[in-house]
Amino acid sequence: MPMQPVKHVVIVGGGTAGWLVAAGVGKMYQGRVRVTLIESDDIPTVGVGEATIPTMTAYHKLLEIPEAEVLKATHATFKLGINFKNWGEIGEDYMHAFGQVGRVFWAGEFQHFWRRGRELGLNVSFGDFCLESVAAKRGVFAITENPALNYAFHLDAGLYALYLRNFSEALGVVRHEGKVEHVELDPNTGDILGVRLARGETINGDLFIDCSGFRALLSEGALKTGYENWQHWLPCDSALAVQTGRSGPAVPYTKATAHGSGWQWQIPLQNRVGNGLVYASQFADREWADMTLRENLSGPLRGEPRLIEFVTGRRKLIWNKNCIAMGLASGFLEPLESTSIHMVTSAVIRLLRLFPLRGIQPVVVKEFNRQSKEEAEGIRDFIILHYHATRRDDTPFWNYVRTMPVPDTLQHRIEMFRESGMIYVGGDELFRHNGWSQVMIGQGVIPKIYQPIVDNMPDKEIIEYLNGFKNHVAKSVSTLPPHEQFIKRYCAF
Ligand code: FAD
Repeated sequence: MPMQPVKHVVIVGGGTAGWLVAAGVGKMYQGRVRVTLIESDDIPTVGVGEATIPTMTAYHKLLEIPEAEVLKATHATFKLGINFKNWGEIGEDYMHAFGQVGRVFWAGEFQHFWRRGRELGLNVSFGDFCLESVAAKRGVFAITENPALNYAFHLDAGLYALYLRNFSEALGVVRHEGKVEHVELDPNTGDILGVRLARGETINGDLFIDCSGFRALLSEGALKTGYENWQHWLPCDSALAVQTGRSGPAVPYTKATAHGSGWQWQIPLQNRVGNGLVYASQFADREWADMTLRENLSGPLRGEPRLIEFVTGRRKLIWNKNCIAMGLASGFLEPLESTSIHMVTSAVIRLLRLFPLRGIQPVVVKEFNRQSKEEAEGIRDFIILHYHATRRDDTPFWNYVRTMPVPDTLQHRIEMFRESGMIYVGGDELFRHNGWSQVMIGQGVIPKIYQPIVDNMPDKEIIEYLNGFKNHVAKSVSTLPPHEQFIKRYCAF
């Protein structure tokens, strides 16, 4: 059968995911495909998802979205990383910052030199060799050439979707308000022919993007794609989310504080703070979560905490028939490393590259699914690491995650690091050496040995080098203004 060219893309769902897709396809295939987005005013968006990672700035650049405009429109602040408190052990904390720790030598990664320095009596925290980590701790930030910081945003999810909607509509994306009530399938191929709205109208299309959130209306509801459940590795399945007013200056990092059966996020915006308590319902009930959340809020409450339930895992096929699931419809890992919005933008870029303008080819679908699976599994392992590499034994929750069997891929990485100090990262993996080493060392996985090549450098030189680098970082950061001062200046343009 000849291939059907893709001339009309229909996106179902107008949350962050739906509008990110609309903006991407609208921008890159403007005039070549029609893009329609359907969303229902009666079905609210998930309303969370306010911490991002630096890939978002790359997406904005690709789409030529002016960052200062986003910052203003979404009351955003800058983010240099995540501060993890009470994860390795109660009372400990560390930063997983977005930048490079130390310098990369041909001979070995920086952790080997840091490890040798410790042996020589230099007691400097790993993060002190990272610009972003030190800047975050000091509450300073600027976009400058020197020092150039890697950054992302904390933003208001509702306002961001609205911003993207305006951006997309200006590109010709057509929005339909209405509730999808029925998905019509081709009886011969099983492909989606169209979606029928409650008011009776049917919208047909060639390629459907399911951004309907946890409902996964097309991908699961109509196509019964199936779900790979990862709850045995990521047992948190509930979150209580609430906004508070501010109680101090906005810090340029997300806070992730571990509690007895879960953890709490604090995401500072210009005008308020987003908070949430993520927990595992098999180990704690809503009453505990509500109490723990309230006890650990710093600003005045704005409304009552709202429960969001989820199942960690992913859809078995992200692209099935003529439908691609993106956002929460494709699955959900955990908010812990703020990866969900990233996974939407990376899926959009994947689609833009493999766009089936001349028709959907099975080999392309297969490749799309292979890449999506690999990406999700890499992120999954990195998130599990935070739970598993703990020394906490104060509750059944921590005892479970500390002792549970983890994926072989992760087990191997932890053992490699512990035994040899080495980290191997695949070409397309989101989290690189800097991420893995900061989290492992931050949670107390200290390599037993360092690479022998480090001994080619005399001890005195190692100490001088490490001290020199630490001082260089501190000096570079000392030139930066307070975070909020920079935001005001930046938004004034
Ligand atoms: P939704 O926001 O749920 O949107 C679904 C859309 O589908 C809505 O517009 C709705 O109207 C529409 N819809 C549904 N059914 C129909 C129908 N029948 N007819 C018509 N329209 C319909 N991600 C991050 O990157 N960083 C974070 O810090 C982060 N924190 C999170 C915390 C929690 C507790 C959770 C659960 C998620 C978090 N995420 C985070 C994920 C992030 O919120 C989502 O990836 C992002 O908001 C995208 O959601 P979505 O657009 O897929 O779904």
